[in-house]
Amino acid sequence: MLPIQDCLPLLQTPKKIFITTHHKPDGDAIGSMLGLALYLRKKGHTVTAVSPGEIPDFLEWMPSVDTMLNYEATPELGAEALKKADLVFCVDFNDYNRTKHLEQLLSDAPQPKILIDHHLFPKPYWDYGLSIPEKSSTCEMVYDFINLAGDNALIDKDIAACLYTGVMTDTGSFKFPITTAFVHTMVADLINRGLRPTYIHEAVYESWTTARMKFLGYVLIERMEVFHKYGSALITLSRKDMNLFNVQNGDTEGLVNYPLSIKGIKFATLITERSDEIKMSFRSKGNFDVSNFARLYFDGGGHFNASGGRTKTSLTETVTYFKKILTDIHPK
Ligand code: 5GP
Ligand code: MN
Repeated sequence: MLPIQDCLPLLQTPKKIFITTHHKPDGDAIGSMLGLALYLRKKGHTVTAVSPGEIPDFLEWMPSVDTMLNYEATPELGAEALKKADLVFCVDFNDYNRTKHLEQLLSDAPQPKILIDHHLFPKPYWDYGLSIPEKSSTCEMVYDFINLAGDNALIDKDIAACLYTGVMTDTGSFKFPITTAFVHTMVADLINRGLRPTYIHEAVYESWTTARMKFLGYVLIERMEVFHKYGSALITLSRKDMNLFNVQNGDTEGLVNYPLSIKGIKFATLITERSDEIKMSFRSKGNFDVSNFARLYFDGGGHFNASGGRTKTSLTETVTYFKKILTDIHPK
């Protein structure tokens, strides 16, 4: 993979650009995709931003979200945009399999591909790119890319809102150790460009439905198990639970973090029963590497303190398997 500055000559003349991100996108995925799209449009390029699937409700307010395609809903439009593109940007993922239904199309696409991502162990698929696991978020890296191109002055309040969203969500609101002084310097710059942080915090974190709040109460009382011996806690959600509370897309976001507020809990897991797989989310505080844990036992990966994985077995089998691993490895 060539350094990302080597792709800048390709952007000297107007291009058709396809940008995508990972399946089940979060704030950093959509923030980096839309922030980059808005910037590249300002540079005179024609940009199509394509999410592999639907986006959570708490991101529906984002600037230019209405210009984005949902590949799952309109695969023919997404495929056409990719076919017509001169260049492809991939943000916030580093393995085509993270895009689910787009995987084959992306790997077959002949155009030059550019990666901007902060996950560990990138696949060697990209022609140009930035892959820096020490970065707080892909949004921080899009900010770096814009500056590298000498275009800081093009960052307006909409681009700032997109980039801030990803940094805010990936740093747990500027709390995780990955929140460097540079992150705060970047945010200061975004505020100078018209960013309204309070508006974004409210839009993302304080726009719950009553049903979602009650679901949280139910989950913490009925579905959370705490294993103090292992400094660990587990939340298990069945389809039945989610149907009972009519759980919407995005309503389970952040659930996995709650047990980490219990004194002594350093490793939290959320197991969710989906229609096609069992989805695992892992979070840790301190020196327990959940990226490695996800890769070793659950066909996944991610970051040192936040990762995900999956199984193809049943919910009950997954829970049993998980508890067996917990007793075997004694994370505490
Ligand atoms: P989440 O629990 O929110 O799905 O994922 C937490 C973090 O791990 C996110 O940064 C996400 O992109 C990453 N992640 C989740 N699942 C996988 C996976 O299967 N492979 C890799 N490499 N990263 C993952
Ligand atoms: Mn990210």
